[in-house]
Amino acid sequence: MKFALDPFTILFTTTLTCAVLAVAMYSMHVSFRREVAGVGHWACGLLCMVGAGGLFLSRGLLPDELALPAANTCLMWGIGLSMVGTRRFFGEPPGWTVFHAVWLLELTAILWWLLAEPNFPRRAAAFSFLVAVFYIDQLRLVWRHRTPHFTSWFFGILLALQVLNVLTRGVAAMFISGAVADLMQRSPLVNVYLALANFMALLMTVAFLMLATRKLQKILEQRSTHDPLTGVLNRRGFLQCFSGVRARRQRHVAPLSLMAIDLDLFKAINDQHGHAQGDKVLVHVAAVMMRSVRQCDFVARFGGEEFVVLLPETALPHAQQLALRIQSLLHECRQPGLPHCTISIGIACQETTAESLDSLLSRADAALYRAKENGRNCTEIAAPTPLAA
Ligand code: GH3
Ligand code: MG
Ligand code: MG
Repeated sequence: MKFALDPFTILFTTTLTCAVLAVAMYSMHVSFRREVAGVGHWACGLLCMVGAGGLFLSRGLLPDELALPAANTCLMWGIGLSMVGTRRFFGEPPGWTVFHAVWLLELTAILWWLLAEPNFPRRAAAFSFLVAVFYIDQLRLVWRHRTPHFTSWFFGILLALQVLNVLTRGVAAMFISGAVADLMQRSPLVNVYLALANFMALLMTVAFLMLATRKLQKILEQRSTHDPLTGVLNRRGFLQCFSGVRARRQRHVAPLSLMAIDLDLFKAINDQHGHAQGDKVLVHVAAVMMRSVRQCDFVARFGGEEFVVLLPETALPHAQQLALRIQSLLHECRQPGLPHCTISIGIACQETTAESLDSLLSRADAALYRAKENGRNCTEIAAPTPLAA
């Protein structure tokens, strides 16, 4: 069986796939434009590539003097827009100067070596080196924002391979006579390059989609486990963290403390200063708590003006010190224009893993209730469980 890569088929199928991917990117952009930036630019880039594919495919219909510069410019815009999209995705400046400088240089080069001094290898070399700028820039961004996750590596490796691919073609065009030929010719080497470049461009689009989906997944996870007002954990997030802490405690038994915290006379703050000011007080109190605890501790808002702080590997004396620290920091860090507020705290310590979370929470709540009864702005310790006593 004869192995044959037909340039027309390669171009036709990749152009069609680009169109389908553009629709997928666009629908993601419409649904999540606030969450994930840059997807819209990628969608536009893919449309430009569809335009470039169409122009290359219709070369017989239009004169080369028109079709080739137009197709190359469309291709440059397509790849350049993916660079702008990747930059926006990572929260960097869009790089429009690089974008315009590169495509204008490419247009000048193609017009010169097509019309003034026809020279195909130089045209091919100019295109390869200029397009490499867009890929190298994205590779730099992926490296700078790398995460130890498959999607980040996948995108990065594809970009590196594409850089290698286009640079090799550029160098071959410059230094090896006859090494490059018109992409629509039926030369095995040229067809392999065409197939590789197109396939890589599609794979990179898929890799970017995977990267965007992962970012979205992280954002949605964060939203489902965190309180939108204060940014601390919500009840669901707290339960997840508690499960993790409990799993670690099975291997390494250590005391664990839990604080139940409630803002004092908060209803009066709302009544006197308005709900919006009340919200600001909640945000401030949560920020003070976050500043006071260690990195391994967990702060959660359980509802209304009630918070819970989980302190792994912490015995009662240390938990009491921390409670004092939060209360005094709240006193010291009064914010101008914000009504002052105090908190009451109930602390329960779980000495053994036998006690359930519900029991621990209700002991801390009972201690908090006593703190309220004792005049508020103070801390009470829960009685130990009968098991631990
Ligand atoms: P105590 O010292 O006994 O806890 O008195 P309190 O006034 O803090 O307690 P109470 O349970 O009577 O009032 C809680 C108030 O918290 C009532 C409710 O309007 C307010 N609240 C609950 N959630 C929010 C919120 O998200 N924002 C604001 N601004 N207020 C809230
Ligand atoms: Mg209260
Ligand atoms: Mg309350």
